[in-house]
Amino acid sequence: MSAAYRSAPVYLGIDLGGTNIKSGVVDGDGCSLSSVSLETEADHGPEVGLERLADAGNRAVQASGLSWDRIAAVGLGSPGTMDLEEGLLLEPPNLHGWNNLPIRRLLSDRLKKPTVLQNDANAAAYGEYWVGAGKGARSLAMFTLGTGIGCGIVVDGLIIQGCHSHGAECGHIIIQMENGRQCSCGAFGHLEAYASATALVKRACEALQLENSPSLLGQIDPHELSSRAIGKAAEAGDHLARRLMRETAHYLAVGAVCVMHTIDPDLVLFGGGMIAAGQAFLDDIRRDIRAMAFPVPAARTRIEYARLGGNAGFIGAAGCARRAYGPKPQ
Ligand SMILES: [Zn+2]
Repeated sequence: MSAAYRSAPVYLGIDLGGTNIKSGVVDGDGCSLSSVSLETEADHGPEVGLERLADAGNRAVQASGLSWDRIAAVGLGSPGTMDLEEGLLLEPPNLHGWNNLPIRRLLSDRLKKPTVLQNDANAAAYGEYWVGAGKGARSLAMFTLGTGIGCGIVVDGLIIQGCHSHGAECGHIIIQMENGRQCSCGAFGHLEAYASATALVKRACEALQLENSPSLLGQIDPHELSSRAIGKAAEAGDHLARRLMRETAHYLAVGAVCVMHTIDPDLVLFGGGMIAAGQAFLDDIRRDIRAMAFPVPAARTRIEYARLGGNAGFIGAAGCARRAYGPKPQ
């Protein structure tokens, strides 16, 4: 290890979720030097939450074997809603009672490091852009498929966060104008209400009540039904599960085509738990995108799965800290 590497700045990334906090130390090349996870205990309020964030950061630094003075800056990815310029959480539905919280300053005061705040889905997209499936691409849009659908867009190294910190909220693209399903945000007809893991399970439960033909899904306790189980049943050739996955792929393709026709990216990525459904699901999404997009982007835009898994958020958050406080490109 060279002396220059031993003294090069590194960054602490923290990915705050409603259930868990993931944190890790990341070097200037995007390599993770540690990775830790602990429960957010979001219901105990922001005071406890900030303790947990600081605790996660301390553990990540300790696990990296480095001292705090090597940490140049901290990046925090958090669920919205937020005001990025002010470093404020506004009314985050996944963090009850954390309203109007100046989280960037509070965390910076605790850790005594310059701190940047970014939307969690934007941070994950930036992580993939920096060192994941998007490495080397000029631009990408990434959909993270979980309880909801997060989205982040990066163009020429810039995160499209918008004038009001609500940019790239493509999980809330309207895909159904009439009699739309209600989204977790309260509005109707949004992509998330059709194609998130939660929405897939809901659609499966509805279909099981209507369906007469036997399905593997009918043998699962309804409380145990998950997007993973549906993906597995589809792989095993179950007719109903296959149809549900096929429809989900179609909804996602509609969302992806909207984004492609807006920013014409190099690459569209899908990440999150639902990509466990594997190659057939990705092939379905690709096929539908190709059928709906303009011919040139249909032929040239790469459609891939994300690669960093659950680490994308903290790696991307650390990348945001590096971009703000690291060495400036020559
Ligand atoms: Zn919505």
